[in-house]
Amino acid sequence: MAPSSTTPVLPTKTGVLIVGAGPAGLALATSLRQLGVDHVLIDRNDEVQPGSKAAAIQPRTLEYLDRIGVADRLIQAGARGRGFRLHDRRQTLLRASYDNLDTPYPYVLLVSQQSTETCLLARLEELGGAVHRGHVFLGSTPDFPGVAATIAGPDGVLRAITARYLVGCDGIHSTVRTAAGIGFPGTAPEQLFAIADVRLDANADAVPKEDTTFYLSSAGMLLVSPLAGGQHRIVGPAPGPAAPTGEDVERLLSERGPRAERIRVMEVLTASTYRVQERVAERFSAGPVFLVGDAAHTHSPAGGQGMNTGIQDAGNLAWKLYAVLTGLAPAALLDTYHGERHPIAAELVAFTSQFAKLANLRDPATGELRNRVLAAAAAVPGVTDWITVKLAQLDLGYTQEPDLGTPRVGHRVWPTTVPPVGLRWTLALPGDDSTTLPDEQGILAVRHVPTLATPLLIRPDGYLAARGVSIAPAEVLDRLSSYLPSSPTR
Ligand SMILES: Cc1cc2nc3c(=O)[nH]c(=O)nc-3n(C[C@H](O)[C@H](O)[C@H](O)COP(=O)(O)OP(=O)(O)OC[C@H]3O[C@@H](n4cnc5c(N)ncnc54)[C@H](O)[C@@H]3O)c2cc1C
Repeated sequence: MAPSSTTPVLPTKTGVLIVGAGPAGLALATSLRQLGVDHVLIDRNDEVQPGSKAAAIQPRTLEYLDRIGVADRLIQAGARGRGFRLHDRRQTLLRASYDNLDTPYPYVLLVSQQSTETCLLARLEELGGAVHRGHVFLGSTPDFPGVAATIAGPDGVLRAITARYLVGCDGIHSTVRTAAGIGFPGTAPEQLFAIADVRLDANADAVPKEDTTFYLSSAGMLLVSPLAGGQHRIVGPAPGPAAPTGEDVERLLSERGPRAERIRVMEVLTASTYRVQERVAERFSAGPVFLVGDAAHTHSPAGGQGMNTGIQDAGNLAWKLYAVLTGLAPAALLDTYHGERHPIAAELVAFTSQFAKLANLRDPATGELRNRVLAAAAAVPGVTDWITVKLAQLDLGYTQEPDLGTPRVGHRVWPTTVPPVGLRWTLALPGDDSTTLPDEQGILAVRHVPTLATPLLIRPDGYLAARGVSIAPAEVLDRLSSYLPSSPTR
């Protein structure tokens, strides 16, 4: 798939200006395009950047990507991982298997970030959208009720664009966040990590083939993950600031990896070092400005969660922008973006931070104790299931109330029970009529589900909006504003 470098003429006015065409910005633009929302997407880069970076897509993200027509092509481009394990070099301590998850996608999709962005871009272009490449967002000033942004074009000429809403999908060093005066508190631990995508020799058979494995030994942590195309990703402490060589990777494998014959690195495909930052923006919105993806939160990539969270941020914001811009909902609906997504990011950063600390214990005796506790925990019924659902992000929702078997308002509705209909609201009715009836305005679809006891109304991002609603679609549409989440929702 060749990356596109379409550079259409920049308009002077738009409904939504999206800065940054990484995975978060592309997911948002594709969603808005599918909903028919006027927007402009800009990126400073001339094309999709090479490299695998975020190489794991979680089931919850695939469920959203299915709604915007991207999941199938991504699945074709990737490989299916079966889960995660913790290993002490001799044996598996704990295994989180995705095999039995209740989702149409019971696996971790192993695919490079470049392929993810290329697939999102292909879908955006298929829908008639585009990226304004080579355009740099410099800053913005209030222009009631929206903003006036200054953008440097590929020719170096400064242009102004007014937008009702401005969304910063511009990554960890977000200029949009800085321009909006939103703080990005957190920490940047000293540890420098090495990351390399490599081809290993036949001794790599000692490494689990279908699971991402965290080796937790007295020498320290090492992550080994299979990738598409028979490659492996290796992540461990960097020996120095330079990108790791094949010899560095072999040393990490022999000191921290499986106890096996020496595993040789046949080819280094990409290698770099990175310093983890653990930060969450103080607010995910300020007036007409929103932050999505790494611009809003960043943390250790261990566990493959970051990009996934960004794509789901985009899914949360897209339908709300549509509802407000079309007059279906009051502007206050947009406040629920921060209310719903900020706690999820804050919890994720705390979780990955704790895991990283646990994985990097330096004292051998404490490490041994950790491993014994992990092995004991794995034997307790429900523990590995809890971890698996968490890593797959299937536990995410917008309510603190427990799931007692039937979905509660704010919980994810299983797509295996009520299959999604794009980015429409879904009215799921008890019964076995197999027809799906989209309404004329394209807002609400009706589905019959034999196992349902009561009618459900499902949001365009797959969460339950209301239960026990009217079975008449026109009545539900009339009362839609009463089913919208209020702020805060958790
Ligand atoms: C080495 C490495 C490994 C990783 N591994 C994983 C993993 O396994 N799993 C996982 O989930 N995550 C992983 N991540 C994190 C993942 O790459 C990020 O979470 C993801 O890229 C964030 O997507 P985003 O769209 O929010 O931002 P980005 O991908 O950073 O995209 C931001 C875009 O904004 C553009 N931009 C920035 N400023 C401007 C401006 N002023 N004007 C115009 N355009 C601008 C940039 O050109 C860029 O295209 C990894 C990251 C690294 C570095």
